Amino acid sequence: MTYKIIRSAFNVLLDSELPDQDREKILSIVTKNPEVKACHHLRTRTSGHEEFIQGHIVFDANLNIEDAQKIVNIIEKDLSNLYPKAEFLFKAETSKTLKDCRHAPHPS
Ligand SMILES: [Zn+2]
Repeated sequence: MTYKIIRSAFNVLLDSELPDQDREKILSIVTKNPEVKACHHLRTRTSGHEEFIQGHIVFDANLNIEDAQKIVNIIEKDLSNLYPKAEFLFKAETSKTLKDCRHAPHPS
C-alpha cells in the first residue's frame, strides 16, 4: 500500500515525452514552412504541469541565421496556439552551421 503511494507520487515527478501524435503534429507545423529543410533532435517533455518542446530546425544555407531565427519565432508562435503552456527551445541551423551542431551523428 505504502509502496503504491510512493510509486505514483514518483511517476508524477518523472519527466515523460508527449505522445507520438503530438510529436507528429509538432513536426508537421515546424516543417510546413518552405524554408525549413529538416527538423531533428525533437524532444518533448512534460514535467508536472510544465511542458517543454525543443529541437533543431535546419534551414536552407542561403538563408541568413537572423532570418532563420525570425521563422523560428513564427513557428514557436504557431505551436504556442496548440501548446499554450509549453516552453519552446528551438535552435535555428543552416547547413553552414550544421557542423557546429553538438549532437552526433547528424541525421540530416
Ligand atoms: Zn542540430
